[in-house]
Amino acid sequence: MARNFYFFNPDTMSFEQAKLSVWTIVKRIIWLVTTAIAFAIFVLWIAFYLFDSPKEKMLQKENNELKEQLRAINKNLEVMDVVLEDIQDRDDQVYRAIFEAEPIPLETRNPWFNLTTRYDSIPQSETVKLLKTIDLKTKGLFIKLKEERESLDSLLLLAENKNDMLAAIPAIRPIKNMYNVTSGFGLRIHPILKTYRKHTGVDITAPRGTPIYATADGTVSRQQAAMGYGTNVIIDHGFSYQTLYGHLSKKIVKPGQKVKRGELIGYVGNTGLSMGPHLHYEVWKNGIPVNPVQFFTSDITPEEYNAILESSKKVNQALS
Ligand SMILES: [Zn+2]
Repeated sequence: MARNFYFFNPDTMSFEQAKLSVWTIVKRIIWLVTTAIAFAIFVLWIAFYLFDSPKEKMLQKENNELKEQLRAINKNLEVMDVVLEDIQDRDDQVYRAIFEAEPIPLETRNPWFNLTTRYDSIPQSETVKLLKTIDLKTKGLFIKLKEERESLDSLLLLAENKNDMLAAIPAIRPIKNMYNVTSGFGLRIHPILKTYRKHTGVDITAPRGTPIYATADGTVSRQQAAMGYGTNVIIDHGFSYQTLYGHLSKKIVKPGQKVKRGELIGYVGNTGLSMGPHLHYEVWKNGIPVNPVQFFTSDITPEEYNAILESSKKVNQALS
């Protein structure tokens, strides 16, 4: 079906009928619509790229704020880590040292390695990197804190026994106003055998009958010392400490008897293999003789301590 259209023909100076097919009209409409859509897309595209929508602006702002917060959390975690490391140092160097506990190995304390995070598989934007660091640090702090709590718990147990332990450590001199440590701990010439032998204690010269005091709380042992020590007293202090007092003229305590630090246990003599009146004094820790001079710490001045230490170092003949 054709519709009638007219146009002016200047040659004939009259209106003539033009015949436009429906197809031509449809084509024109399609072209018009397509152009309009293309123009609209172009305008929208420009608007989209050049101007943010209010929602986008809001999201952008929120995103920046979140990033800022993540950075702040990251910083806080770093500070917490420094503080915790300081606590660990104190724990190892002070608390554990006081209670004679072994320091905790570094690997146990710093389990930072081999930690994976749930963000590993995601492509790394700045936010993801921040989240990953925070995740790792939080896990690390958690493990460190757990470790520290266990350490302090174990110290608490030790602290509960601390008074007993302190009372059990030989901490005073066995003779008041100690005259002289004539022979120290270590290799010394045996006065009777005349050979170098390990001297497992110190010899303190003092007139016969000088009072001898227990150097820590404990129980008088039923254990027998070697013959050479003459009349002697061995005290079990617990916490793996023992002391031995040899060559006494007389002992005034019995096996099984409980003694307090500073309690009179006997008198200086010259019994057993001895070259003259003196006290042979030994301190044992975990079944091994240790230098008793190290334990004369609680009732002497630093000067006195140094003097005793020096005189005990002289390589000379033990009185046995
Ligand atoms: Zn000796």
